[in-house]
Amino acid sequence: MGRPKKATPAVEKAPNHLLGSFDFLPEQNLSWEVFLEKLTSLAHTFGYSKIDTPVFEDARLFSFWSQDQDRLLGLQDAKGLAIAAKPTNIFSLVRTFLENHFSERERVSKWYYCTPVAFISGNQIRQTSEFGFHIFGSAAPIADAQMINLLIKLFSEIGLAGLSLEINNIGCIECQPGYQDQLKNYFKDRKYDLCENCLEHLENNRPLLILACTNLSCSTASTDAPVSLDFVCEACRRQFIGVLEGLDELSLTYNLNQKVIGKSWSRRTVFELRFRVALAEVTLGNGGHSDDLVQSLGGAPTASLGFSGTVNTILSALELAQVKFTNKNPVDVFLVPLGDLAAKKTLRLFTELWNHQIIASEFIGPGSIKTQLKLAESNKVSIALIIGQKEAREGTVILRDVRSGMQELFTVERIIEEVKKRLGK
Ligand SMILES: [Zn+2]
Ligand SMILES: [Zn+2]
Repeated sequence: MGRPKKATPAVEKAPNHLLGSFDFLPEQNLSWEVFLEKLTSLAHTFGYSKIDTPVFEDARLFSFWSQDQDRLLGLQDAKGLAIAAKPTNIFSLVRTFLENHFSERERVSKWYYCTPVAFISGNQIRQTSEFGFHIFGSAAPIADAQMINLLIKLFSEIGLAGLSLEINNIGCIECQPGYQDQLKNYFKDRKYDLCENCLEHLENNRPLLILACTNLSCSTASTDAPVSLDFVCEACRRQFIGVLEGLDELSLTYNLNQKVIGKSWSRRTVFELRFRVALAEVTLGNGGHSDDLVQSLGGAPTASLGFSGTVNTILSALELAQVKFTNKNPVDVFLVPLGDLAAKKTLRLFTELWNHQIIASEFIGPGSIKTQLKLAESNKVSIALIIGQKEAREGTVILRDVRSGMQELFTVERIIEEVKKRLGK
């Protein structure tokens, strides 16, 4: 045998991940998996079905998506059609609702999802996973209350309790323009207190956006701004009161918050769920109605209500709450093979244990008997199965009680029964 050949590097150093994208390492994925498991189980309990939509869509679908400086991550396909990564899932939900004629299939469609989204913000491509719930076809205010009920249950099950629910009503297509006029008149007299962005909002007839500005001067200027509930129409008021009564019925507390204004396609009731520890706060996601969206994309008028959040906000909140999850598949026995032949024999033993619902540790990593036994002890595993060269040849296994250090020799045929007995399985 000659010297092993050295591979020629394709690049001098592998480039790091791009800013705006993320690696989720095993410990983060464990939290995310626990969250998704709870989400799936609660979604089914509350009557939601899973929906998946593609990462890319015809870019025309996103013409309502305008987030100030953010742009679509787009390209042209071979036929010259502009396609884009979905910046958020709601437009794809509406598209599939229309394309698959869900309004004819069922009275109410209740969906949940978890899907990648991407867009360009400044000079960075941002990519994340968005999760959410959506209901098409139910205008009943109890739908809002019940969705909030589900969300609060979901977050409290992963250790995010004591959330603050910030809720507002921003009016509908009929009454919102009147409210925006009131705001415009109000902010006109306070022009000099507004930041550059807010001045632009004022000029572009979008004074509602000023209410959400976090700039201190804009916030102060908004203090006495007209309250939406004084200007929304009777239907919007009734809908909002219905939601609040539903929340009262569920004993869920809320804060009426004028600064919560939803997205540009939001209508009527909008809300946010926030998690706070001392001065730090994470908004877990936002929800509300988007009742004109189906019609805006060519469908019949359809009530539309949803909530969405991202993996990043959930992980930040769990970090803030110092919630850590441990792997819930505890190992029953530790396998300690010594040498190549023993390692080979362990393959079969692992499978036989598995067939009897006994979970054995992974055994393909290197390590001396001492380090492996230490590992077993630190993992609180009471049984180690040791196979040395001699045992491998003779078809036997040494069973070691990790705590006492007592060892006994068994044949491979008998070892399963003995382990089962000791584990009480
Ligand atoms: Zn209205
Ligand atoms: Zn501002």
